[in-house]
Formats: sequence, structure tokens, C-alpha cells
Amino acid sequence: MTELISIAEAEALVAEHMPSFGSERVTLDRAAGRILRQRVHAEHDHPPFDRVMMDGIAVSWRASLPRAFTIGGAQMAGMALQTLADDSGCIEVTTGAMLPAGCDCVVPVEQVRREAGTYHLIDGYQPSRGQFIHPRGSDCVAGTLLLEAGMRIGAPEAALLAANGVASVEVGKTPSIAIVSTGDELVDVESSLGEGQIRRSNDIAIATALRLHGFDRVALEHIADDIAATQDTLGRLLGAYDVLILSGGVSMGQRDYVPAALDALGVRRVFHRIAQRPGKPMWFGIGPGQQAVFALPGNPVSALVCAIRYVRPALLVALGMTPAPKEYVRLEADVDGNAMLTCFVPAYVQTDAQGWSMARPVPARTSGDFSALPHTHGVVQLPPGNACTPAGTAVEFYRW
Ligand code: AMP
Ligand code: MG
Repeated sequence: MTELISIAEAEALVAEHMPSFGSERVTLDRAAGRILRQRVHAEHDHPPFDRVMMDGIAVSWRASLPRAFTIGGAQMAGMALQTLADDSGCIEVTTGAMLPAGCDCVVPVEQVRREAGTYHLIDGYQPSRGQFIHPRGSDCVAGTLLLEAGMRIGAPEAALLAANGVASVEVGKTPSIAIVSTGDELVDVESSLGEGQIRRSNDIAIATALRLHGFDRVALEHIADDIAATQDTLGRLLGAYDVLILSGGVSMGQRDYVPAALDALGVRRVFHRIAQRPGKPMWFGIGPGQQAVFALPGNPVSALVCAIRYVRPALLVALGMTPAPKEYVRLEADVDGNAMLTCFVPAYVQTDAQGWSMARPVPARTSGDFSALPHTHGVVQLPPGNACTPAGTAVEFYRW
């Protein structure tokens, strides 16, 4: 039996051994949620010209500004630069237009009254120089670093990519992932249950946890509790996928064939067993073709905790994502821990009026009890050494 390692060691060993999946170029319509693998600089000044910010008229400001302006032209959004020829006149403008040459003040349409070919300022209105003008380069100048490698492409990032003419973008290549359940007792969701059978759910739970973060190259497989079948199927999957995520068959039982099969196939074990509950039997190794192989325990809470605590963060970093800062919550109630093991306890998290994220522990009765998980948001991580972690303690939190 191998030594238990700490969760910090497990996390570090996964990070150290994870392969990179490389990068690829995708068009912007396919970039949502992907991880940037390039820097992006401002293509031009933003805005690229002095921009009119209001519909109205543009005038040449002076201390003793007249109250009436003859219309000397129009500068609509998208038109090439117009010039105010007579500086006692005005040019009609729309939001997004270039500020006409010779003008330095925009008077909103609400503050003028039009009579025939003349605009009159409404009584009492005093414009000031420079008003309602968004000066060229005032957001950023050409060449400014706007996006860094490692960012996830959300709506603001996509807007900047488009605005700066980046039609295709270098992103982390999504790995192909096989999610493999093991066990003679497991049938698929369409089957009716025979004696001693349950429907398999770990595979779809793990797939969902990954798909929600953009991993869409996911296939589900199942292996019976048979040593030859385990080895054959795993051998085939190692030839076809970048990542294998197994659940079940990894403990010490007489039908737990996974570690031996992986060993026989040349998958180098990095660790087996972590000092944690649930999820102690987790196994991690690297295949002969640099495949990352995670073998998770079979109990549904254990499998999901390991998937969100180790597998998903490691896959995101392998895509090139800058590791997310750890999230902390405060315990709303005392919660039982363990002297030797880090404990993960499902919790319902809500932000209170003071701005604290408060976690109400919803302990699973066993690591096989996943019926209450939909009423929780993730798990709190309780360090070892405490039989009880008191209410008010700040602890790490991992979302489903
Ligand atoms: P094992 O680690 O293979 O001994 O499995 C531990 C427990 O988890 C057993 O009760 C299994 O029936 C259950 N289990 C294993 N794999 C799955 C799965 N894919 N879906 C639901 N339960 C599972
Ligand atoms: Mg099993």
C-alpha cells in the first residue's frame, strides 16, 4: 500500500506532470470561452478620432459665444471629416461622428431649438469648451497591451479582439477526453435496472463539469470488471485520447483492476492515494504518449470532488489559462473535520449583506450519497488537524 500524500502535494504533482495540449487558431465566432495564447495590442488609438458623444450641433467655442448658429453643414457618423467654414455657424452632428475641423464643443439636441436654417441655444444654457467630445487616444493609444495570454475569452475580451481587427485568434487547443466508468453493476441511463444494478452517473457528471468550462471533445466509455477487458479498452483509449478520466476500480478491492492495468500499459504512476475524504483512492499518472490519466474513486461524491478539485483546474491550466486565485468562504456553522485527512464538505454559498460569502455545510452522509448535491454550490476544504472547524472560519471553496 502506498503512502498517502497531502492535497498540496497532489496538486503540485499534477501541475508538474500535466502535458500542454498546444494551441490553435480559431475565428472569433468560435472563440467564446477559449483561453488566449497570444497578446493583443491596440491596433490604433481608441477612439481613432475625436468622437462626438451626443446628437446635436458642433460649434467653435469662445468666451462670448453667440446664442444662435447658422447651419453650415452636417457630419453624420461614418462620414469623412467636414470643416466648419464660418466659425459663427454650426455643423449638425450625430453620436459617433468625427468632430468637424474647427469645432471644439458639442451642444446636445436637447439644449437647442431649430428655426429654419438656424439653431438657438435654449434660454440659460451655457456650453463649455470640449464638452461631449471623446478625444482621440483618450481610452488608449495604438500599441497599448490590451489582452494577455492566459485570459479566458468572455464578452469584454471578444469585444476588444473585434475592435482591434483580430479576426482569428490563437487559443489553447481543447484536448480529447475519454471519461470511463468501470463496474459490472453499472448500466446506462436508457436501461431498466436488473437486480444489483444502478445507472452510471459519474461519467455524465464529470463530463458536465468539464463541458461547462468549454471542454467539448468528450466521449463516454464503460468497462466491465474484467482484467482483460480493462486492459484492452484502456489500451485502445490511450491510443485515441489526450486525457483519460476513469472512475471506480481504483481502490483495494478484489475487482479493482485499474491501477494494475494502467501499470501494464506503461502509464507511469505519479501518485496513488491522497490524505483526503472523500476521494482518498485517487490515482494519477502519465501515459507513454504523454496522455494524462486520472483514475478517480467510484463513489459519486468522491469522483466529482476529485474532478473539480484536481482534474478540471489542471486541464484549464494545460490549456494555457492563468491559474484562478483561490476562492474563500466563511463557514456559517461548525463542521466536523478529521485529524489526519483534509475533508471536503458540500456547501450552499450565499453572499450576506456585509459582502461575505457564507457557506452553509450540507454534509453528505456517505461518499455515495449525492442526492443532496443539487442544493449545494460546491465543497469547502477543511484542513486536517481539526475534529471540528468552527463557524466563522475562512476556508477554501471549490465550485461544482
Ligand atoms: P468502486 O470504486 O469501483 O469500488 O466503486 C465504489 C462505488 O461507487 C460503488 O458502489 C459503485 O457502484 C459506485 N460507482 C462506481 N462507478 C460509478 C458510476 N460511474 N456511477 C455511479 N456510481 C458508481
Ligand atoms: Mg467498481
